[in-house]
Amino acid sequence: MYSEATTEFPETTSTESVTPMTGQTDTSEPASTAGTAEKNVKVKAEDVNLWYGNTQALHGLNLDIHEREVTALIGPSGCGKSSFLRCINRMNDLIPSVRVRGQITLDGEDIYDPDVDVVQLRSNVGMVFQKPNPFPKSIYENIAYAPRLHGTVNSRRDLDDLVEHSLKRAGLWHEVSDRLQTPGTALSGGQQQRLCIARAIAVNPEVILMDEPASSLDPLATATIEELIDELKDRYTIAIVTHNLQQAARVAGYTAFFHMGEIVEFNDTDTLFTNPREQKTEDYITGRYG
Ligand code: ADP
Repeated sequence: MYSEATTEFPETTSTESVTPMTGQTDTSEPASTAGTAEKNVKVKAEDVNLWYGNTQALHGLNLDIHEREVTALIGPSGCGKSSFLRCINRMNDLIPSVRVRGQITLDGEDIYDPDVDVVQLRSNVGMVFQKPNPFPKSIYENIAYAPRLHGTVNSRRDLDDLVEHSLKRAGLWHEVSDRLQTPGTALSGGQQQRLCIARAIAVNPEVILMDEPASSLDPLATATIEELIDELKDRYTIAIVTHNLQQAARVAGYTAFFHMGEIVEFNDTDTLFTNPREQKTEDYITGRYG
């Protein structure tokens, strides 16, 4: 199950690199993959541990995130959902005290390999945050900025097309096509969040990470985001942190239940919600603690 590699990767300056496991083998199937082996695994986490300074926040996580599916990460506040999500595109590298051990692969490639271009990784694995954070620029520039910076478009015409295409895919085009030069920050909260999704889409990601993307939105805007997530999963692999169990049940094909830095249970969402294996999962989904 574990990689046989025992190569030590050099550690980076402020953030220690994920290193492969130290050679231990485990012949049993991890609980996290039970019953889901037939699906394509896009992102695979194996024995992921994370510390903030001396405090360990993630303890030996194993998780398979399936291609073109939505995987929800649920669990009480502070149980490590966001910390784990940030491991998947190395956002934790930006936090000086963080140390990560274990392995995460994207299409079988170790994302913590020293040769990985982290900027490219974060294009492949985009992120949408809890609070919409458009750049203080026009709607057009919010989308065009990164592709122009990366030199991935050759002409103004191509850039226009990319802006239109990204906004269409994020379900925002018909609401903003006549005011592309107005500030992104002038949009409503729900529109701003879809603008941020369009911005992530514009750099052609394969995976989109969403950290409570609707928690600051009203019910109507939340429903729009949920519909959008449902459409996006035809093209993208999505992992979403949510504290809203109904939302997980509505949008996610798979759900992982986190508790105190561990994944207690992972399964298809219907099974996890209707027939959980673990008492802790049942207690959480029935509202005994939260
Ligand atoms: P969740 O997303 O489930 O609410 P988090 O991943 O945010 O959980 O937090 C997991 C644990 O890590 C918590 O104890 C939290 O206080 C701690 N933590 C999160 N971010 C940081 C940080 N930047 N520095 C130090 N501790 C952190």
